[in-house]
Amino acid sequence: MSEMKTCTTCGDEFPVTIEYFRKSKRNKDGLKNECKNCSKAKDKSYREANRVIIKERNRLFYVDNKEYIDARNKKYVQSNKEAVAERMRKYQLKNKESISKYQKQRYKHNKELFPEKQKLYRLENKESIRENSRRYRLKNRDTELKRLSLYRENNRASLVEKGRIYRLENKVIIREKQKKRQIENKDAIREYSKEYHRVNRESIAKKTRIYYQANRDSIIRYVKSYYQRNKEVIAEKGKIYYKKNREHIAKYAKQYAKDHREECSLRGQRYEAKKRKLPSTLTIEQWENAKLYFGHKCAYCDGIFPLAREHFIPVDNGGELTKDNIIPACRSCNSSKNNKEAISWFRRQPFYSKDKEDKILNYLCYKNQKQQLSIF
Ligand SMILES: [Zn+2]
Ligand SMILES: [Zn+2]
Repeated sequence: MSEMKTCTTCGDEFPVTIEYFRKSKRNKDGLKNECKNCSKAKDKSYREANRVIIKERNRLFYVDNKEYIDARNKKYVQSNKEAVAERMRKYQLKNKESISKYQKQRYKHNKELFPEKQKLYRLENKESIRENSRRYRLKNRDTELKRLSLYRENNRASLVEKGRIYRLENKVIIREKQKKRQIENKDAIREYSKEYHRVNRESIAKKTRIYYQANRDSIIRYVKSYYQRNKEVIAEKGKIYYKKNREHIAKYAKQYAKDHREECSLRGQRYEAKKRKLPSTLTIEQWENAKLYFGHKCAYCDGIFPLAREHFIPVDNGGELTKDNIIPACRSCNSSKNNKEAISWFRRQPFYSKDKEDKILNYLCYKNQKQQLSIF
């Protein structure tokens, strides 16, 4: 057992070692008369009472010895890298709130007092700032999104205006950036848009339809001019695509023709009419109405054979593919009449009747003799 000594401040007894007493050259035993705990308490109360003075003294000391202190600190950090990092991490974890508060304050302070300093800082640390905020957003995704949408809601009008001005002022830069991004993320964008279209097929189709109807003329104009400008590239691409998908295309076309027989044959006739520069406005509905009008029978002989679209005035005489020149006729009448003048041909047939002639002329709107005369 070592010797014991009583603390002059708190009166407790402790062994006379440097574990319990601070060193002092004034005493014989080389230790202070007050215990370590009391010394610490004294220090603390002194620091608290003289905060400002100490701070100022430290500051002055630092200013006087800046180079030496900085070098020493640097050296220490370099040779204790891991320990310092670990301590820093612990400190940050422990003082999270006060640190962020301090940072915010400093940010605000700089913003108000040293705008150019802040600008410089941002410019110099562009990358790290961006990286930090990216990481922060990722980590706090949900709350950030909520905050953002709230902010947008509350500032809608001014944001729209700001965006408009920004886009106007930075047109070229924005386009360049967009192009660059698109090239860089080609595959990801394609995947994403595929999935998006798959999920939203119906709403997209609806929107597209509405947009098309509202902008029909300008769209057609644009497509036409685009085609004219890129004729060769388009043709080349089409060739390649056809080569690649030949079988699929043939199969599809066959099935389509089977499912849309009426439409396809009408399209063929329209094509023929266009080649002859004749009007070709007959629609499927008008054709269906014509058949309905004649009871789904041949307009001449009442036959119910497969019905063809019969040009009342023959194509060779400038007969149009329009509602006012097309009636249903059986194949036999259709080929028998051929290029002849309709009424005189009809009158020579065994199945001719005045009623049927009237019905045909009535349907074709040859209501008065004047119009009728023009065809004879
Ligand atoms: Zn004591
Ligand atoms: Zn017939």
